[in-house]
Amino acid sequence: MSLVAERLRSIKARIYAAAMRAGRDPASVRLVAVTKTVPVEFVVEAVEAGAKILGENRVQEALDKMRGLETLKPGHLSEAGLPAWHLIGPLQKNKARLAVGNFSLIHSLESPELAREIDRQAKKKGIVQNALLEINIASEETKHGIRPEDAAGFMKEASGLENLNITGLMCVPPAADDPEKSRPYFKEMNRLAAELALEGFEMTELSMGMSQDFEVAAEEGATLVRVGTAIFGARG
Ligand SMILES: *Cc1c(COP(=O)(O)O)cnc(C)c1O
Repeated sequence: MSLVAERLRSIKARIYAAAMRAGRDPASVRLVAVTKTVPVEFVVEAVEAGAKILGENRVQEALDKMRGLETLKPGHLSEAGLPAWHLIGPLQKNKARLAVGNFSLIHSLESPELAREIDRQAKKKGIVQNALLEINIASEETKHGIRPEDAAGFMKEASGLENLNITGLMCVPPAADDPEKSRPYFKEMNRLAAELALEGFEMTELSMGMSQDFEVAAEEGATLVRVGTAIFGARG
């Protein structure tokens, strides 16, 4: 078995165990294998080893890899099941046209202007684009995302956009060496999602947890954990 396949298997086992500890259905926590900066050969290994969702930070890099995967392993990969692609990094408005329709989920919706632009581009393509609202859960100056207290207003406004479908929330809490430091933020995300669901907004997905803290996230209600380094090794 390749190193990537071995690590992937171990991460999945740890997600399973974390979900079980919290009394959650392990199938409700899905792994997004974060392939940013990872050469396409290793992405192929991950897909062959059962990675179903790939996460990329940059639109163009992702598009190149989508093509690369097709060229490298056309027949074989469709047997393994073609992966879904998620955009997890910041999306500039002028890249929305390229992103819409190429990613089954955009995790990084963070402004009303971007929401309107995604909606406009999706309308042109005749599709509905799924996205998550990125929450700046610790209200950090330097971080992307909208503040928790603005989430309800945002959801209300965005509900008028017919070609944009917000299916939940995403966050990147402050970097910490101890995964337990992320727990209060994950709890707060879960609470916020429950509150928005009570107001009638769709809150199917909760995208939180990275290599450092994905087990804590799985315990606290994540439905998508985004793991790069722990699968592919440190980025160069
Ligand atoms: C890079 C990245 C990840 C993965 O981080 P690792 O620490 O390598 O697991 C997850 N989410 C976002 C938004 C990222 O940019």
